[in-house]
Amino acid sequence: MNDTNIKYVEKNDLCTGCGTCVALCPNEAIKLYINENKGIYIPKINEETCAKCSICINVCPRHEVNFNQLKSEIFKKNPDDYFIGKFLNCYTGNSNDFQIRYNSSSGGLITQLLIFALDEGIIDGVLVTRMKKDKPLEPEPFIARTREEIIDASKSKYCPVPANIALKEILKSGYNEKFAVVGLPCHINGIKKAEAINKKLKKKIVLKIGILCSHTNTFKGTEYLYTKLNIKKEDISKISYRGLGWPGKVAVKLKSGKEKKILLGTPLWKNFHDSCLFAPTYCLLCNDLTAEFSDISFGDAWLPEIISKERNGKSLLISRTKNGEELLNSAVNKGFIELIHIDSNKVIESQQTFLFFKKINIRDRIILRNFFKKNSIPIPNFTTQISFYNKLIAFASLINSYLGSKFMFLLCYVPIGFIKMYISLYYTLMSLSIKKDLIKPDKTKRSFNILILNAHWNNRGDEAAIRAMIDSFTSNMSVQSIKIMFNTDVRTDLQFSGKNSMEILVTFPFFEFKISFFVKFFIDFFLSLISLGHFAFSKKGKDFISAINDSNLVIHAPGGPSIGDIYSGRLNLYEYFYLYKLFLPKLKGKKVYIYAPSMGPFSGKFQNFIRKFILKKMDLIIVRDKISKKYLKDQLNLDSYLALDSAFQNDIPKTYLNQYFEINKILNLIKTQKVVGMTITDLNWHPSYINNTSLKNNIITAIENAIDFVTKKGYYVIILPQLFGLDKEIEKPLIDYIKSKNNKIFVLPQNLDSYAQQSIISNLFCVIGMRYHPNIFAAKMNIPSIAIYYEHKTKAFMKELGRLDLTINIEKINAQIIIDKFLYLEKNYDTIKRQITEKNPHLKEKSKKTTKLIINDLHKSKIDFQKSYN
Ligand SMILES: Cc1cc2nc3c(=O)[nH]c(=O)nc-3n(C[C@H](O)[C@H](O)[C@H](O)COP(=O)(O)OP(=O)(O)OC[C@H]3O[C@@H](n4cnc5c(N)ncnc54)[C@H](O)[C@@H]3O)c2cc1C
Ligand code: SF4
Ligand code: SF4
Repeated sequence: MNDTNIKYVEKNDLCTGCGTCVALCPNEAIKLYINENKGIYIPKINEETCAKCSICINVCPRHEVNFNQLKSEIFKKNPDDYFIGKFLNCYTGNSNDFQIRYNSSSGGLITQLLIFALDEGIIDGVLVTRMKKDKPLEPEPFIARTREEIIDASKSKYCPVPANIALKEILKSGYNEKFAVVGLPCHINGIKKAEAINKKLKKKIVLKIGILCSHTNTFKGTEYLYTKLNIKKEDISKISYRGLGWPGKVAVKLKSGKEKKILLGTPLWKNFHDSCLFAPTYCLLCNDLTAEFSDISFGDAWLPEIISKERNGKSLLISRTKNGEELLNSAVNKGFIELIHIDSNKVIESQQTFLFFKKINIRDRIILRNFFKKNSIPIPNFTTQISFYNKLIAFASLINSYLGSKFMFLLCYVPIGFIKMYISLYYTLMSLSIKKDLIKPDKTKRSFNILILNAHWNNRGDEAAIRAMIDSFTSNMSVQSIKIMFNTDVRTDLQFSGKNSMEILVTFPFFEFKISFFVKFFIDFFLSLISLGHFAFSKKGKDFISAINDSNLVIHAPGGPSIGDIYSGRLNLYEYFYLYKLFLPKLKGKKVYIYAPSMGPFSGKFQNFIRKFILKKMDLIIVRDKISKKYLKDQLNLDSYLALDSAFQNDIPKTYLNQYFEINKILNLIKTQKVVGMTITDLNWHPSYINNTSLKNNIITAIENAIDFVTKKGYYVIILPQLFGLDKEIEKPLIDYIKSKNNKIFVLPQNLDSYAQQSIISNLFCVIGMRYHPNIFAAKMNIPSIAIYYEHKTKAFMKELGRLDLTINIEKINAQIIIDKFLYLEKNYDTIKRQITEKNPHLKEKSKKTTKLIINDLHKSKIDFQKSYN
């Protein structure tokens, strides 16, 4: 192409209206206009002022560009992926500010990170796009310099956007000012080309935020949308294409004050956007979906496991440069955003349809286009064979776009359902073709399907330990799927609310006083053992076997002493269930690891024979305290590794509580008053104490009097329920009783998960923890606690913390002991808090050790990793 200006680009329907040429033209000879027939922006050149300098074509992203050369110059050695370009890491995530997350397109990460970069002084302003106030259907790119302006520009605009015209303002800015830019792939590619010839721009732009883009829609698309909603253009005062949760809604506000909304995914939305009926021709010739030249690219986390549950917003991101990665890490560490590491194949999976469309189907579209146009454009060269379906799709997509641009008015008369049916057919064809033509992910990379067994009970401590464990696996190795089986039925509505990628399996085997249970269990038990883990009789048994088959890493969950005497008195059978569940995967040759529970003590010859026989087969046994290690060695002659409770290892985002609107009163209390957190139990449920009524009475009197003392001293008390669902008989009556005795007692609502409890604890004066995990939570948040222990795990942890001086044996409990410990803590508060804070990093490292040990062991087994632990 031997041109001196961008006329060629415009004539051949290649111009995306990105605005780069407008901003970079030194003579201001180019302007963008909306072409009403096509519903897109087109550039017009003033031939009189045009100096024929060719700058416009040199910066135009739709003119010649050597992508491969640019990529290797910018990203040097980053791994390159044909579908998503060069990258360092891939994540899913969201802003921790609920308002931002809810009112943005997906997880609110772009808006949040821009505000963060502005507040941290990384940038002075950012190129973003809002809708014009006076012409509400037209986008307005501008440089935002305040938090309010950034928020005003949030949400995706599914119409043509000439974002890069605002580069002009960056070029005119003060000498030392630095900027971020937000744009679609075509905008970012224009900026990349402009930077190559304009060093000033290159110096000033320090962050490029790319938006994943399948295609945009012409202004005719918007017209179709409001016409179908029976709205006249002149009545509209505002339009938002996304926001209001996830996947979100289009909201059209009328001057009358009324508002009409359409949910994404409904037929009208599909006709407007998914159909490509209103995709401009330039989008059909675009081959960059993930903004391959940005520092970080953001999209929607369109993954089945997330779509099925997430309603507030979840983004998908690809970090490509050191700059981008540092910004993300810093925002995570300071608690502004939450990220989970994912495999790059997950990104491909989430964008599969349109990656196929842009990276494979494009060849046939260009062939067809060249057939009808005078000027040919280069055809991508693939070595893979492409099916006939591909040609049909290419043809259909060009027809769709033609129909949308020429017959929008007629389309408004076609019933929505009819177009939707046509689109369904189109997508069926597409999925057939994807199956045949999409290049399969690289099978040499190893991804893990993790099966977690023997997850314990319905309580927040175990929830925290399992969540932290999952976070550490997902951020340190490539995890494809996680299945988790609890030992009892769980309240999934309350637990793991933030964990979308997990599947919870039906508990098996589960004790029932029914003859059918025994028949099924024993048949399953023997059948599965005799067949070496291949057959089961019941559906639950079959599901368990297939979960084992699908896994390549089996983990015994962190938690209480599920293996050992403590629960054996009453629940002997359970321990055999737990051991059976570990044995079966071993029979099938799976890697099985014990992830830092407490264990023991062990007695009984036969039990010990079985315990030892099965535990010996484990690939690693890691325990969370020295006492458990000693029991294993002394009583079963088994070696184990020592780590610390799993819940200690991760950080809780600082803004985690923002999502709970209903606890304002409590938040205000903990910020303005001295508050003591308490977990209470009368051990009504504990096998060793269940019949000990005198101990139960002692506990209740001691707690009542101790609370009386503490509140008279001016403190408030917050009860931290441990079990999910206060309706649990074993916790509620005691909490109700204690609360009725004193009006300075508050109870945390039951919808607060373990992360919320930890955030609350970080604001308390101290915790009096009658259960194990509240003491862990307190130490983790650098808050002192008085531990009242009934099992060795709590005492062992307090010993590790160096705070045996703050422990009370449950059997010796009375009010005076609690009061004495409280007065002792009050007197030495600053020293104790400082000592705990100093100990904290060491304990965190120790807690991280379990995942490290497992990963090292997997390494030794010659299993490939995409990411190693550091
Ligand atoms: C036309 C279009 C097509 C898209 N296609 C896909 C897709 O195929 N797959 C996918 O996963 N995600 C796609 N997205 C991205 C997705 O909708 C979100 O923008 C992205 O997930 C970021 O979400 P967020 O909540 O972090 O953004 P927010 O916090 O809402 O911030 C969005 C930012 O993008 C800027 N912006 C919005 N629209 C435009 C635009 N048209 N041009 C330039 N800047 C803009 C805004 O000014 C704002 O700064 C598309 C977005 C657009 C606009
Ligand atoms: S730089 Fe952008 S607006 Fe200008 S001609 Fe190229 S694509 Fe069109
Ligand atoms: S599909 Fe390509 S050309 Fe079209 S708006 Fe998206 S990035 Fe720009």
